Amino acid sequence: MLFELAEEERLFRSMVRDFAEGEIRPKVDELWEKGEFPYGIIEKMGELGIMGIPWPERYGGSGGDYLSYVIAVEELARVESTCAITLEAHISLGSSPLYYFGTEEQKQEILVPLARGEKLAAFGLTEPEAGSDAGNTKTTAVLDGDEWVINGTKCFITNAGTDISAGVTVTAVTGQDDGKSAISNIFVPKDTPGYNIAPKYKKMGWHASDTRELSFSDCRVPASNIIGKQGEGFCQFLYCLDGGRIAIAGLAIGNAQGCLEECMKYVKERVQFGKPIASFQAIRFKLADMATQIELARNLAYKAAALRDAGKPHTKEAAMAKLFASEMCMAAATQAVQIFGGYGFMDEYPVSRFFRDAKILEIGEGTSEIQRIVIARELGI
Ligand SMILES: Cc1cc2nc3c(=O)[nH]c(=O)nc-3n(C[C@H](O)[C@H](O)[C@H](O)COP(=O)(O)OP(=O)(O)OC[C@H]3O[C@@H](n4cnc5c(N)ncnc54)[C@H](O)[C@@H]3O)c2cc1C
Repeated sequence: MLFELAEEERLFRSMVRDFAEGEIRPKVDELWEKGEFPYGIIEKMGELGIMGIPWPERYGGSGGDYLSYVIAVEELARVESTCAITLEAHISLGSSPLYYFGTEEQKQEILVPLARGEKLAAFGLTEPEAGSDAGNTKTTAVLDGDEWVINGTKCFITNAGTDISAGVTVTAVTGQDDGKSAISNIFVPKDTPGYNIAPKYKKMGWHASDTRELSFSDCRVPASNIIGKQGEGFCQFLYCLDGGRIAIAGLAIGNAQGCLEECMKYVKERVQFGKPIASFQAIRFKLADMATQIELARNLAYKAAALRDAGKPHTKEAAMAKLFASEMCMAAATQAVQIFGGYGFMDEYPVSRFFRDAKILEIGEGTSEIQRIVIARELGI
């Protein structure tokens, strides 16, 4: 068993790292302070093929594997999280249902511009009354002739309201099956009448990413916009979420790695009691623990990605990777702020931003509590 990336994956990592250092690092302060969506950076990511890494070239993608995509998310988050989450929501949530379950026509029409980075994808699952309990979806889609008529509200949706958003794939109740709501996934283009976009939320972190409430009032889309078979939406999004969880683990690993690197510089510069604080065992142990935990999380996430690439079951591994990496990241960011002392509490210090960007990773795409439920279920209890 070799724990080594393939040559292609190593080259890909260094390409994304160079991009993040050259194109994102100089704009980190601006992204955080202004909170404006990074159109220019996303356009360049599209040109480099990053916006369609795991999709085949015939669909506008780069033909890479899922592991390369997770590495890209990690490398972006090592510098800054909003570009990383924009990519993650675009690929794992927005584009995945189309790629895995869409028709050839849907792939050619909708997925190709997404994979090239010309358009941005979103997935609308969460509702005011259906968060962790995603099966409690209240949004409805009723077939009227050859159109779906969609009504309902989605909250906290990433990527659905930018100038380059293609639209959103929503989960909607399309009937009943054994007394339970039968849920389908339906693609709704952004300019459809009745697709209402609320202003951006003001968030604790991820300032420049686009997160909004969406509402649909008698929003009509062609019947052919359903993705896969009617009533299979729940199973589809569970498969997409397995992939999303691995990518969120990548985001957490990148954030924690960023914390570690900032600390490694700071502890050599900061002098107290006549010595760099790097000489104090209490500080050295914190760094040793951070590095160890990051390595553990990385191994879990890469294993889950490799299983997905091999077409093997990975629900448990994806949930474990997401759970462990996000909690590890929160702990690493907390220790990073501690190591920076009072300066760590100041907005202009990167660890303060890493800290604020970390918390959501324990919540989005299934909270830590939900990951534990999934893992316990997979254990057979
Ligand atoms: C910035 C941001 C971006 C997001 N982007 C998207 C997106 O693009 N698309 C999308 O569909 N959603 C998105 N979300 C929504 C996100 O996935 C949900 O917030 C998350 O799944 C939790 O749902 P909730 O917020 O309704 O919390 P709730 O489900 O109300 O949970 C509240 C608390 O109760 C706990 N809890 C709930 N049920 C159980 C249980 N059975 N056992 C134990 N504890 C339980 C939870 O773990 C949590 O601690 C985003 C959210 C944020 C904040």
